[in-house]
Amino acid sequence: MENVIIIGTGCAGYTAAIYMARANLTPLMLSGSQPGGQLTTTTEVENFPGFPEGIMGPDLMMKMQSQAEKFGARIEYSQVENVVKSEAGHFDLTMADGKVLQSKTVIVATGASPRHVGLPNESKLIGRGLTSCATCDGAFYRNVPVCVIGGGDSACEEASFLTRFASTVYLIHRRDSLRASKIMADRALANPKITPVWNSAVIEYLTDEKGEMRAVKLKDLVTGAESELELKCVFVAIGHVPNTQFLNGLVTLDENGYIVQTKGTQTNVPGLFAAGDVADHVYRQAITAAGQGCASALEAERYLSH
Ligand code: NAP
Repeated sequence: MENVIIIGTGCAGYTAAIYMARANLTPLMLSGSQPGGQLTTTTEVENFPGFPEGIMGPDLMMKMQSQAEKFGARIEYSQVENVVKSEAGHFDLTMADGKVLQSKTVIVATGASPRHVGLPNESKLIGRGLTSCATCDGAFYRNVPVCVIGGGDSACEEASFLTRFASTVYLIHRRDSLRASKIMADRALANPKITPVWNSAVIEYLTDEKGEMRAVKLKDLVTGAESELELKCVFVAIGHVPNTQFLNGLVTLDENGYIVQTKGTQTNVPGLFAAGDVADHVYRQAITAAGQGCASALEAERYLSH
């Protein structure tokens, strides 16, 4: 029986692990399908305190991992498919391979995954000119036009990054102003390689004879006019969906699928805590996720000592 199983290895998960490990509770972390979480798909993080020169997202996560492991956290690379609370009060976690792990407490820090536009051929085009990760795929599209869909910080960050490779980056947004923070929006709009396409929605992905992205069909949301825009890759940056499916109704979720925190990082299930983007649709920052990871560990520790 484990003292605590931390599901997820992003900022929230690693911070919880550092605190649990330093309390001698030898946490077990389950990494899921994206070890290191969302920061492994970003470039430079300029707003995490302690790094005045900025730090690359993957480097920050490797530092958090080694800090957690230094104090005794263990990491298993496996996917949780179900969590139930037993009558005896502990949790049974069923893994994708059928293995069942038992733990006295659980910290859910599974974050959120990129949202898709929802067009019919979207899943078929992933890796064929459609992606949600500029850091991963940007370098494949040198000297060709690409687009980013979205108007938030992610879209601006991805668009700015892509100007290193692409000939033109179209920033396609459904409104006429960006949601992004002023500094990120100003930086993107000042870049001569970024062309904003306002009040527009992508309504169709158009492919060539090899099934690769060739263009997008756009709809002007003010006039209703439709047009085609030639490009080689679409980078989707329209927000995220919380990763809560594996809880199968155990925990109360809000209408968008985020875990409801009842007090601090507590949930409606005693002994099960939620930290980071899986529960936070307001702040969604690396530092706030880390803060919640810390709080969840302190609360789990308190729960265990009672
Ligand atoms: P976001 O702030 O929720 O922005 C999502 C964008 O996608 C919005 O502009 C939204 O349009 C648009 N959108 C949503 N659904 C759409 C759809 N179906 N079709 C077309 N457009 C759609 O998400 P985010 O940019 O991923 O940022 C998430 C959080 O991470 C934010 O708190 C952000 O500050 C933070 N972040 C920070 C940094 C940084 O500081 N370095 C970098 C990246 C992200 P509307 O504007 O019309 O709603």
